[in-house]
Amino acid sequence: MQEYDNAVLKALSVIQDPDLGKDIVSLGFIKELKTAGGEVSFSIELTTPACPVKEEFRSTAERLVKALDWVKSVKITMTARPQAPGGNAKMKGLQRVRNVIAVSSCKGGVGKSTVAVNLAYSIARTGAKVGIFDADIYGPSLPSMVSPADRDIYQNNQMIAPLEYEGVKLMSFGFVNSGDEAAIMRGPMVSQVIGQLLGGSDWEELDYLVVDFPPGTGDIQLTLLQQVPFSSAVVVTTPQNLSFVDVVKGLQMFEKLEVPVVAVVENMSYFTCGKCDEKHHPFGHGAARRLRELYGIRHSFELPIVQALSAAGDTGIPTVLAEPAGAIAKAFADISASVVRETERLRHTKQRPPSVQYIAGEGIVVSVPGEEPFSIAPATLRRACRCARCIDERTGEKILQDHEVDAGVHPEHIAPMGNYAVAMSWSDGHSSSIFPYQVLLKYQ
Ligand code: ADP
Repeated sequence: MQEYDNAVLKALSVIQDPDLGKDIVSLGFIKELKTAGGEVSFSIELTTPACPVKEEFRSTAERLVKALDWVKSVKITMTARPQAPGGNAKMKGLQRVRNVIAVSSCKGGVGKSTVAVNLAYSIARTGAKVGIFDADIYGPSLPSMVSPADRDIYQNNQMIAPLEYEGVKLMSFGFVNSGDEAAIMRGPMVSQVIGQLLGGSDWEELDYLVVDFPPGTGDIQLTLLQQVPFSSAVVVTTPQNLSFVDVVKGLQMFEKLEVPVVAVVENMSYFTCGKCDEKHHPFGHGAARRLRELYGIRHSFELPIVQALSAAGDTGIPTVLAEPAGAIAKAFADISASVVRETERLRHTKQRPPSVQYIAGEGIVVSVPGEEPFSIAPATLRRACRCARCIDERTGEKILQDHEVDAGVHPEHIAPMGNYAVAMSWSDGHSSSIFPYQVLLKYQ
């Protein structure tokens, strides 16, 4: 038997998890393997039920095992063993929530809630357990974007039971308060009330809780980030608002609180006129690329101006559910796959931060536990410094020109900062570089 088990494991060990950089056998994903009488069965246990490569794993595994000449049949069960909640225990209602994802914008009206709701339903379509918390106390929009049949609020063991629509749990100030008391509340009070509603709702077991942030980067947002251990954030903007200052302010807020921004969504970015297939970008584009380079945000997405999205705001049915085969649902499937993937990857990295050292002749060597180390040429990283002396914070334009950096420059001192970044001082005397691991991993 052992010999058959080993043959199956050997066949499966060529399947690499693209995010974790190791094969699925070494990662311990194969469980309950049985090979009796040539009838092979096993389960592949993933880290998230929303794993974007779930189907690919299943079909490749089936093909590889079927190719063994003694195998008569193969039965594969796909399961997920979500890791323990990421320290969300401080708030009672979040104890069994694994990942909390912030969706934020610098200004109102850019489509933040539209993105939050469609992102949540898109993740839920992959089989994960999802909730949405609308933290926008001044302008809650969740009640008009989704239409739960039962809007009565129930209390259970002193906890509020979230509402539910199409399998997604929902909570918003708009559900508990129909008056305009929020309008007269001030900052600290607002923060307290947001914390109470978020942590006082019994979310039960969730894989992902999407939090629709109030727009802006003020005290309310900061307090929320301090109260809840967010796993990742998605920043929504429109091209008119992609004035660097605003977006960068948002990115810096998340960076300061060590919450990785996994995607920037440029909403209402273009339109198609109906006369040709071309995408018209009335406000130009290219800023997203600079954000990727400077902040290491791997994913940026453009969403078009479409009537379906504006109309869905009032119908109570999110577009990804109303038109599940449409272009918008496809776009959100891409966004949600990237967000889930990057969130899981970073969770892994955060638990085991990489070590970074300079080795003469090799460069800056980054070793992520369990992965092949990779190196970055020192001059390349020095040129990519994003401190205020090297980059104009207002425009994002480079102050430091590439030719000003000597090809032989190298780090003299590298020190970890929290569990998210390293600080570096250089042989050219420059000492204000800070590189989040997220930025370093971009060079992998
Ligand atoms: P925010 O949460 O940033 O205030 P909303 O999600 O409430 O923004 O969106 C503001 C308005 O813009 C809503 O009426 C919404 O339906 C509409 N909208 C959002 N995204 C799009 C889009 N891509 N195309 C057309 N209308 C959109």
